Amino acid sequence: MLENIRIVLVSTTDQRNIGSAARAMKTMGLSQLVLVNPQDPPQGKAQALAAGATDVLANAKVVSSLAEALADCSLVLATSARNRTLDWPQLDPREAGEKIVREGMSAQADQSPQIAIVFGREANGLTNEELQQSDVHIHIPANPDYSSLNLAMAVQTVCYEVRMAWLAATKVQPEQAPEYPLHQELDSFYVHLEQVLTKSGFIVRQHPGLVMTKLRRMFTRTRPEENELNILRGILASVEKFLPQDKP
Ligand code: SAH
Repeated sequence: MLENIRIVLVSTTDQRNIGSAARAMKTMGLSQLVLVNPQDPPQGKAQALAAGATDVLANAKVVSSLAEALADCSLVLATSARNRTLDWPQLDPREAGEKIVREGMSAQADQSPQIAIVFGREANGLTNEELQQSDVHIHIPANPDYSSLNLAMAVQTVCYEVRMAWLAATKVQPEQAPEYPLHQELDSFYVHLEQVLTKSGFIVRQHPGLVMTKLRRMFTRTRPEENELNILRGILASVEKFLPQDKP
């Protein structure tokens, strides 16, 4: 699914940001980079900053218009350092990550919906006309007095949220879910516990106080599993042997 998400960088001026963006993408599992009219094709400085992600740079597609970069996409999200630009639908990166993963995973296996996340120029972001080519805007809710992140860091932030949403959606359930005891088993454990504590003299029958309620609350909070409850019952039984037996 992450393969179908493309990061589109519009008219990037600084090669180093392209390299860092490639690295940010690869660390989060994204690989499709599209460059719209970059000032220079990514070479030396971009490669240095890409570090282990030079493959992302090597496979980057260079196109001459944003429309061309987005033509085959069914969902386009454009990032903006400005809040509530143009009164467009706006999400924060977390919400955007969830939307991207939801749409990306809902498709039939034989279709692969392409999703684009667009980033603007270092100096002045995306134009209104470019922002209007998207379905949704993403704004990273940064410090309102200084909300403009470095381009590659904005790429990192958004890709991280996409990854988190993807991990949550694809989380494998543990093979064996723990088995929890039935309430009647818990009830007989509490009866047993109270008997042992009374026989040992810890609970004085005339003044039981809140001990049992507090113990119940503690066990409820920890929620013992079936096998843990069996251990507790075993402990009670072993202690019981040393306690004075009930008079017949
Ligand atoms: N001065 C420009 C900021 C450009 S920063 C402006 O006012 O738009 C370069 C790019 O990084 C932006 O176009 C956007 O893609 C991304 N970016 C930076 N800060 C961001 C933020 N707070 N939320 C979303 N994207 C941001």
